[in-house]
Amino acid sequence: MSPRLFRHPHGITAVDTEYLHPGHAASHIIQDAGRAAFVDVGTNYSVPHLLDALDVLGIAREAVDYVLLTHVHLDHAGGAGLLLQALPNARAVLHPRGAPHMTEPEKLIAGSKAVYGEERFNKLYGSLVPIPAGRIQITQDGLRLPLGRRELEIIHTPGHAMHHYAVVDAAHASIFPGDTFGVSYRELDSTRGAFILPATTPTQFDPDQHIASIERMAAYRPESLYLMHFSRVTDVPRLAGALKERIRELVDITKRNANAPDRYAAIRADMLSSWLGLAREHGVQLGDAEIARLLKGDLDLNTQGLIVWLDRRARS
Ligand SMILES: [Zn+2]
Repeated sequence: MSPRLFRHPHGITAVDTEYLHPGHAASHIIQDAGRAAFVDVGTNYSVPHLLDALDVLGIAREAVDYVLLTHVHLDHAGGAGLLLQALPNARAVLHPRGAPHMTEPEKLIAGSKAVYGEERFNKLYGSLVPIPAGRIQITQDGLRLPLGRRELEIIHTPGHAMHHYAVVDAAHASIFPGDTFGVSYRELDSTRGAFILPATTPTQFDPDQHIASIERMAAYRPESLYLMHFSRVTDVPRLAGALKERIRELVDITKRNANAPDRYAAIRADMLSSWLGLAREHGVQLGDAEIARLLKGDLDLNTQGLIVWLDRRARS
């Protein structure tokens, strides 16, 4: 199967990682003056598609300088160890709090199995290949990385995860925010443009830091954001406002259901009804059942993450 590629301006290409279903998750390749970098890579099962994408784009495997991993959630970084085996000159770029999970993935595997269950974990992610410490470059906030003739800036963006960073390509008014700028599936586009929703995945969601990170990225006044879920969006000021509002709403929903007999069911139901209302207001063409199906994974993970946050907050 040939890789599903989406060509964007400024040497940027999205590759569908074929995670869950087409249109759900995109790895991005940045090309500049004969060199290349990946931003997020998907799972072990994504690796053949990424290598095919390099072939289609005419990029030698030796020409890849970086595998930039915005955070170590497995839909973003699960395939990095395997991919690096095929890219002799690439370094994995990781946040200091994320790197230990990639050199010794046992804890990450256990945590993900707790979320997904053993069988589903194996089906989604397979067997994780550790990244040798010698192939990792650790980030600091404001780190600048040369790629061909351009310079990428790494900024730490906690909120979705503590160990999250974003990649800023200021010269091209582009930011690769991982999951810190939410999810925006193309199926939900309307004549009003993109429809955006927060990702409050377990286990490190922090609403205040999340909103601060969104504001920090928006302050660069980017023209384009390249989300993992799913690729390019523009109209950033509108989306930033909507996303912050929707994070605050999820916090309200969570607090108001804190003592419900079945918190999970109550929070998830309120989230779904809010999102269906917002989608209708936005002019989304799909019916309610189709929207609920498309957003099932996000509803499940967001609810889990909000409950983890609620319990952490009660303890502190
Ligand atoms: Zn993700």
